Amino acid sequence: MHEYDIVIGVDVGGTKIEAALIRFLNGQELEVKKRVRRATEREKGADHIIKVIAELCQEVASKNPEGLKAVVGIGICLPGIVDPISKIMTTGNTQMLVGVDVASKVQKILNFEGHINVANDANCFALAETLYGAGVAHANKTNIPIKGLIGIGIILGTGVGGGLIFQGKMFEGANGSAIEIGHSILGQSDETCYCNNNGHAEQFLSGTAIENHFYKLTQNKFHSDQIFEFSHAHGPHHLIAKKCIDEFKSHLAQFIANLSNLYDPHFFVLGGGVSLQKEIYVGLEEQVRLKLFNKNANFKIYQHALGDSSGVIGAALLA
Ligand SMILES: [Zn+2]
Repeated sequence: MHEYDIVIGVDVGGTKIEAALIRFLNGQELEVKKRVRRATEREKGADHIIKVIAELCQEVASKNPEGLKAVVGIGICLPGIVDPISKIMTTGNTQMLVGVDVASKVQKILNFEGHINVANDANCFALAETLYGAGVAHANKTNIPIKGLIGIGIILGTGVGGGLIFQGKMFEGANGSAIEIGHSILGQSDETCYCNNNGHAEQFLSGTAIENHFYKLTQNKFHSDQIFEFSHAHGPHHLIAKKCIDEFKSHLAQFIANLSNLYDPHFFVLGGGVSLQKEIYVGLEEQVRLKLFNKNANFKIYQHALGDSSGVIGAALLA
């Protein structure tokens, strides 16, 4: 991709698929020219999902007078491990896409002559936030050039994912499974992870984990957002909710300290539903520092800056 190129970014999630026509202006600015979304309806299978991706590409490209002909590339992010050579998803919760060559199939339907690239969604989140979101603010504050930054993106949603950006580039690993931090071990957990192991970060740090923890203590089912609310306001659930959130924060600090000891990034950027809770940032950097080997490490923890656009922007950056 070059400056001023028009590309399409597609973010394929378990519940929705989103596409955007994006023009990158000068390496620091971008213009989202059209953005559309549709339900994934994964029960209808892989061919349906691929058809929807192609239709959404056509729809956003219609914003150009020349249609798809003006688009130089398409980037697609998928919710799973993507092999960095074959660009095929090898593992993931959206099972029907495992082993499917999404790029080739979309290319064929669209009769598209440009390049189509595919990557993992958490890696795309980290890339978008480093180059166009939280990383920009960090670069301005520290005078470190954006392309010199080392950033780690952490998604705290229904699951936990992550991505590492090293000097402007996504670090995918030999098999595409680098920084699968949701499945790194953080302690002994009550629940077993869906990948059949115990103690994975996802069992402590996802919205689902907070909900399960609260349920175990009260036999009441609530969304994690409500549990955060209970932890702030005095009421019947206050003390137990506060205990759940305090334990969550302690695990989050340990988790980020582990990542800092491993990769020593300039900054962390948090995304996903749980990252919207202001409470989790209070005292977090100080708590992390207490657990670090290098007490002088200079790092920051940010909330995402691009909101729910990071998927399509990260995907477009692949094009
Ligand atoms: Zn796991």
